[in-house]
Amino acid sequence: MSRDTLRTGFERAFALFTVPNDNPELTLAQFKAFSKQVPLLYFILATNMVSLSATHQGIAPDYLVIYLPGFFTLICTVRAIAWLTRRNVEQTPAQAYRKLRATNVLAGILAIYFTGWALALFPYGSAYQQAHVAFFMAITVIGCIFCLMHLRSAALLVTALVNIPLFVAMCMSGEPTFIATGVNVVLVSGAMVMILLTHYSDFRQLNESRQVLITQQDALHEQNRAMQVLSDENLRLANLDSLTLLANRRSFFQMLETEFARATSSNQTLAVGVIDLDGFKPVNDMFGHSAGDKVLIEVSNRLSQIADENLSVYRLGGDEFGLLVKGPITERHIQSLGLNVCDAIAQRINIGSGIVQVTGSVGFAIYPDVGVTGLELYERADYALYNAKKHQRAGVVIFNAVQANELTRQKIVEEALIAADLAKELSLVFQPIVCMTSRRCIGFEALARWESPLIGQVSPAEFIPIAEHNGRIAMMTRLLLERSLKVAKDWPPGVFLSFNLSPHDLTSSESTLKIAAIVLASDFDPRRINFEITETAVMHDFEQANASIQILRDLGSGIALDDFGTGYSSLSHVHKLPLTKIKIDGSFVRDIHKHQSSFKIVKSVLALCAEMDLKAIVEGVETEEELQILESLGVEAVQGFYFSRPQKAEETLAWFADRGRLLAAS
Ligand code: C2E
Ligand code: CA
Ligand code: CA
Repeated sequence: MSRDTLRTGFERAFALFTVPNDNPELTLAQFKAFSKQVPLLYFILATNMVSLSATHQGIAPDYLVIYLPGFFTLICTVRAIAWLTRRNVEQTPAQAYRKLRATNVLAGILAIYFTGWALALFPYGSAYQQAHVAFFMAITVIGCIFCLMHLRSAALLVTALVNIPLFVAMCMSGEPTFIATGVNVVLVSGAMVMILLTHYSDFRQLNESRQVLITQQDALHEQNRAMQVLSDENLRLANLDSLTLLANRRSFFQMLETEFARATSSNQTLAVGVIDLDGFKPVNDMFGHSAGDKVLIEVSNRLSQIADENLSVYRLGGDEFGLLVKGPITERHIQSLGLNVCDAIAQRINIGSGIVQVTGSVGFAIYPDVGVTGLELYERADYALYNAKKHQRAGVVIFNAVQANELTRQKIVEEALIAADLAKELSLVFQPIVCMTSRRCIGFEALARWESPLIGQVSPAEFIPIAEHNGRIAMMTRLLLERSLKVAKDWPPGVFLSFNLSPHDLTSSESTLKIAAIVLASDFDPRRINFEITETAVMHDFEQANASIQILRDLGSGIALDDFGTGYSSLSHVHKLPLTKIKIDGSFVRDIHKHQSSFKIVKSVLALCAEMDLKAIVEGVETEEELQILESLGVEAVQGFYFSRPQKAEETLAWFADRGRLLAAS
């Protein structure tokens, strides 16, 4: 055996008798388990000592049966009390280690003290008393091994320090019973030590696996926390508009539901506002998307500045924003809030390459005046916005009773339209367009009529926007165009057909190509068709509308801008489109002989048309006076009740057969 092996063997043996300090968790666990049993250990020692002293009273000297055991019992009591009081005190691993080490040393000292005392008593008394000493030592050492189970070093130390002297003393007595007792005790103690070692290693392993489990649990908690942080962040981003950093549409509708439920349950007011920018699209088209983004960011910042704990701002998409207003609300309060919003938006915006200005329109709906659900409140606000944009740009409209009636009617029409058999219920009328100089009919505008079996005659001004909204317009346009072309085929050459297109018909090249296909499939010369479009069609998506218009122009058809003067009348837009005509709206004609402003507008629009090489048609002419003024202004073509109301298809031909009628009208 080499010296090194010897040294490691010795070190290992020595380690068995010392308290390990390599695992703080184990030290703490040992301390905890140990502190529960140690008072019992002192109890065993004290009672056994008292009983051994009692059997030796008067036989052995007083110092052996009174003073030494008395002192020892005192130590046991003090130590037991000390352990009992500290057992619930939280220890650091270092403190626990120090106490266990002290206990280890103390166990050694006490074992020597106890063995020395017991062996000192052995020579006294009869065989019975001697047997009691042997029994006392054997039973006490076994009890101690049990109690010191969690402090292996102390248990082994005590076993060694008690058993070796006991065995030697028993053998030296020469008495076979005592020798057998010594051997017996050593063997039993050996077995006990084996059990102790297994138990201690189990305890160590159990503790280690508990630690692994705790570490795994900690890791799991950490992972859960990280996942929570991640999902919180995802939720935050999912509710945020990435461009403006305002809360987004999704968050608006979530909040709307929450606030609506709160308002209804606590009888409080709640207002929903919908804002739409006017003039944003031209900025986007003219200066590019990054300029558009700057405008949206700036508007968002301004709206955020108006926001407070009762007013939250959202970006609903595109150039549309939402407001939720809590707290006590009056109509006046909302009106002035709306004006503040409009003022804030209307301030000029620096986009880097220049200064631009957009305006905003706001529609509001206030609960409990309206709204049975949060969504309905929003729809009402949106309808108010639609009205704000229709009647007064950059204005504030609060949803009111008139609009409520309009909406109810709209719903009724919408339902009837969904149920309608359009091929059967739709029909066409034609209104003549007359040449001012010859007073002859030079064309007809086809106008749709709908006779519903459910709700009767409905004006196209009413059902066309609804069909536009619910998507039935595409098939309506195709159906009406096919029929118009059939009627127009019978007109003399040179008489044109004016046909109204909806914004939807120009929103994709496919829908426009379908229209072109119908024209090509008919026998009618496309050059005799005049498609009427409105500015709304162009406002949505200028580039697409432009492309769609070009498809129709390529057919050879003309394009008239309808209702000129009532919409945005953005000349910058108009002159970029391949238009051929402008239709000046009837509202400028009404009493033109009395209204100087109307006169001036019509005059300047006519000048513009001449400048841009566009033909002008003035619609809505009702009286002789109006006609005369228009004639004096040099208008070439007119349309209106003065000449004729829209006529049935079969009546159109009479315009060419009966020339006298035209002359009579002039
Ligand atoms: P619009 O294109 O401006 O059509 C002219 C409207 O003015 C027609 O109303 C016509 O009956 C009316 N009108 C004509 N002369 C006079 C007049 O002297 N005084 C007055 N007060 N009104 C006059 P209508 O037929 O009710 O059509 C209303 C609107 O519905 C049309 O306005 C057009 O925007 C739309 N619409 C009609 N038919 C169609 C269609 O087939 N397709 C599409 N997309 N829209 C259509
Ligand atoms: Ca028209
Ligand atoms: Ca018109």
